[in-house]
Amino acid sequence: MNPYTKAQDEKFREKIRRFAEQVVQPRARELDREERFSPELTRQMADQGLFGVALPATYGGQGLDYMALVIAVEEIARIDGSQAATVTAVNSLGLGPIYNHGTEAQKQKYLLPVTREGKTWAFGLTERDAGSDSGSTQTTAELKNGQWHINGSKMFISNSTSELSAGITVQAVTGKRGERPEFSTILVESNRSGYTRRPIQDKMVWRAADTGELHFDDVTVPEKNLLGQRGKGHRIMLETLDSGRLTVGAMGLGLAQGAYELALNYARKRVQFGRPLSKFQSISFKLADMATRIEAARDILYKATWLKVNGQPFSKEAAMAKLYTSEAAKEVADQAVQIHGGYGLIQEYDIERFYRDQRILQIGEGTSEVLRLVISRKIGL
Ligand SMILES: Cc1cc2nc3c(=O)[nH]c(=O)nc-3n(C[C@H](O)[C@H](O)[C@H](O)COP(=O)(O)OP(=O)(O)OC[C@H]3O[C@@H](n4cnc5c(N)ncnc54)[C@H](O)[C@@H]3O)c2cc1C
Repeated sequence: MNPYTKAQDEKFREKIRRFAEQVVQPRARELDREERFSPELTRQMADQGLFGVALPATYGGQGLDYMALVIAVEEIARIDGSQAATVTAVNSLGLGPIYNHGTEAQKQKYLLPVTREGKTWAFGLTERDAGSDSGSTQTTAELKNGQWHINGSKMFISNSTSELSAGITVQAVTGKRGERPEFSTILVESNRSGYTRRPIQDKMVWRAADTGELHFDDVTVPEKNLLGQRGKGHRIMLETLDSGRLTVGAMGLGLAQGAYELALNYARKRVQFGRPLSKFQSISFKLADMATRIEAARDILYKATWLKVNGQPFSKEAAMAKLYTSEAAKEVADQAVQIHGGYGLIQEYDIERFYRDQRILQIGEGTSEVLRLVISRKIGL
């Protein structure tokens, strides 16, 4: 048993592993090839309690903690990156800020449709000209006669365009504080007029997940749709990303584990020169290195999660965990393809999908470069 996890976390792992193997696995390759987000599979994931894992039962959650969420994401990512992306974005980016900063009325109104009906809620930070530099948001929200008028656009937003998408938390400029822009977070329901959404097609990664480009053309929402305090929007977004890094880390760990298992099984079965590949030392050493990297990735991620669960500062460790696990996923997936030889390069073998899906993990929710920047600040540089 891992020292950072509890019996109930491991029980939840078993349930999600079974679901991932029996329900997600048979559909993963086809949905990826067709580049199709499946509302049906998404609802099935919600039915398993995957939407709101760490939320209390009063808000339709499972009443578990963040460790259980990390484990659940790890188990889905072991099978399929796209579905893991949907679950991750729903929990940490969608539900997280509303649960942590919403009024009671906002929690009742926005959390329950996600946890109970399998809707999704998006997180709108990135814009075409504001990626890593998330403080250069151009989208504005002006308060006039008790209504926010929102204008601007968002780019690369997960869970934002499908029929399940109930709305989005948007970071917008709501004024100025001295010379600096004042950022606030505002909740925008999908059915608001002037809100248009376009799915982004032809992705290399997460092809069965919903990613969108969004436009706000004088979209109006009531003043009460402000999430948290006015002027605290950027802090809310960054704090959300701190926790989000743990679940993205879980995607890296799960993907590495899945790629390793595919390679291990392949190396045991594939015979060349009269022996299984696993009997060649250069192959077994590769697998030994992969297993070692995964062990270290699991420890760094679970420790960072344990700190959060136990109310201790975890921002530095979350950045380190996301950096380490995503780089481990890249290395392990690359070696796993190598072990598959030519078969690793064709869609008939799942490892090809794992190899593509790992690439986003060094970019989304803090690129590896930005994470090194965060970590270097945290160590006093
Ligand atoms: C499939 C997908 C889903 C996503 N989902 C969401 C979502 O739900 N919500 C959301 O808000 N965003 C989302 N994103 C956006 C994602 O978080 C951004 O792509 C990411 O933050 C990087 O921003 P960028 O793509 O604009 O790259 P840029 O910021 O332009 O970076 C380009 C390169 O420059 C480097 N760089 C930038 N600044 C520095 C610096 N100061 N020092 C050193 N190097 C630097 C970067 O590390 C990177 O290598 C998603 C992206 C994808 C692809």
